[in-house]
Amino acid sequence: MRLVSGFGCFLWGSLAVLLCAVPANPDRHVKAALAPVDAIAALAHSNAALATPELRTALADPDAMATLADPVIKVPLVEPEVNVSPLEASDECVLSEECIDQYLWSVYERARKVDTIKVQERIKATVKKNGKSRTVTKTITKLVNEDFTWKDPHAAEKAGMSVVQYVIGGMDRGFKVRLYRLFRALDDAGLAPGMTSGFRDDYRQSIASGHKAATGNSYHGGSRRGGYGHGLAADVVSVKGETRFERWISSEILWKWIDAHGKEYGIGRPYLDKDPPHIAPIDGKEYADKRGVNAKLAGKGSAATSRDAKVAKSPQAILQRRAEHKPL
Ligand SMILES: [Zn+2]
Repeated sequence: MRLVSGFGCFLWGSLAVLLCAVPANPDRHVKAALAPVDAIAALAHSNAALATPELRTALADPDAMATLADPVIKVPLVEPEVNVSPLEASDECVLSEECIDQYLWSVYERARKVDTIKVQERIKATVKKNGKSRTVTKTITKLVNEDFTWKDPHAAEKAGMSVVQYVIGGMDRGFKVRLYRLFRALDDAGLAPGMTSGFRDDYRQSIASGHKAATGNSYHGGSRRGGYGHGLAADVVSVKGETRFERWISSEILWKWIDAHGKEYGIGRPYLDKDPPHIAPIDGKEYADKRGVNAKLAGKGSAATSRDAKVAKSPQAILQRRAEHKPL
């Protein structure tokens, strides 16, 4: 509870920085005049600093971090309200990496980092057999909420960076421009995008929960994909809704919106419903392998589609698959 309510404060803090740092833009034509490719090219040649010192988030002290490192933290299902109104950003962002980073950071900060995972617990139970009572130990499986908010700060600290430098700065520059444009459009459509994951290095990958692909293979920035500065994946949900179930419904709408309009921003969902929040460039290798040219050449279409049919459809099962996507 303390973690979650603290999160709201960070959000407002960040917004304050954003509102102060971003000047009003009198020229509304800049955004319309720039095609995504032009913007990417412009940015690729920019040497803009990664993040302002003001934005660098102070990490918790090592003792506090150790406390947070508990693998399973139970969190209440009813959580405090998060601001879902469109985030402020200037149209000039297409020309400034710093401005884009600030906006993406706001989108990241406002998303709750909560997942539902399975944990095994050993309990003692009394059973009666042949009229005698005996105590036996049983192993039961429970579904619990895991707060994974601590994982990115922990990985950033290990890498010697602020969280914004790590999560946002580790992504490919051209991809960030596309994300910016997509998130702005989602914000304008009232879909309240939130990012649960950006860059991930091998260490961060290794502490992810659930079923995992080989550590260095993640397109979020694994060492076999180019590492820091080359992250070509992000996880996006909607932060709209009071409960996790409501936010899941909003997220479903957001993902379908990306399926319908993402191409205009050069972004798609390589795994569809197998890993709904995961988005990537449609001209990147991951997308090509799963849904694009390479997948069609293999003659099998989307590998995700056939696997989807096997996944349980109950709301609990759906929620379990949602928040922290499995790091493919
Ligand atoms: Zn992902």
